[in-house]
Amino acid sequence: MPKFQNAMSIYQLLDKSNCRLCGEKTCMAFAGAVFTGRRSLSECPRLSPNTIEEFSESSQDQNDTEQNHEDFIKQLKNQIRDIDLAAAATRTGGRHENGRLIIKVMGKDFSINAAGVISTDIHVNHWVAAPFLNYVINGKGVEPTGNWLSFRELASGQERYPLFKKRCEEQMKQIADHYTEFFDDMVHIFGGRQVNAMFQSDISVVLSPLPKVPVMVCYWRPEEGMASSLNVFFDQTADQNLDIGSIFSLGAGLAQMFTRLTQRHGVAGTVESSCG
Ligand code: SF4
Repeated sequence: MPKFQNAMSIYQLLDKSNCRLCGEKTCMAFAGAVFTGRRSLSECPRLSPNTIEEFSESSQDQNDTEQNHEDFIKQLKNQIRDIDLAAAATRTGGRHENGRLIIKVMGKDFSINAAGVISTDIHVNHWVAAPFLNYVINGKGVEPTGNWLSFRELASGQERYPLFKKRCEEQMKQIADHYTEFFDDMVHIFGGRQVNAMFQSDISVVLSPLPKVPVMVCYWRPEEGMASSLNVFFDQTADQNLDIGSIFSLGAGLAQMFTRLTQRHGVAGTVESSCG
């Protein structure tokens, strides 16, 4: 878990509204209290569970995070009631049928009704549910440009990059190093497409976890004493269609999904799962 250098680095995570919901007079006061150990990050109700999970250090915070995840999803589902799902279909690249908004998530239909009930054939965990809901509620519907950026180049991505690297890129690299069908599975099972290798990589595959949030995975094989490497890129519009916490969630969720897949294929011993 990241250790904060000073109260300002905690303040940067807060929404700076000074809303006082935490009981402190200002966000800066709250940041100071967290830095000195008097308060925990999870006591700011305006922070997303993803952010709390990324930056929390205590086991109490971790327990709180589970509850926060559930509360956060509930809050998002409530917000769906205020959304015009027919208009959202155009914005999100989905379709509107029988009162439900249907969006392809990793090539599979996810639908949601006006009461916020999600239906899909696949298991929905919070890694997927929160980004899906945020995309529907807050996504600006900006068309992807085809210009790729690393996670740390997205708005507010820099400070979260170390954890993103650990939870997403390193996890996927381990899989790619040991499981030769990894990229074929991305294409055939998850509706990805192999593209011309980018950034001098050996393999580049583009996935569509959400219609307007494409993700590109590039892998460099080991050679001449050089270790392999893997990087994940996002379209430069990603941070307009999804908040950075949800983008983090998507990347970590993808890595978690691929880890489980490889475990089913019997290479569990080679891939260490760290995405709870
Ligand atoms: S609840 Fe969060 S956003 Fe509101 S004042 Fe406290 S720290 Fe700032």
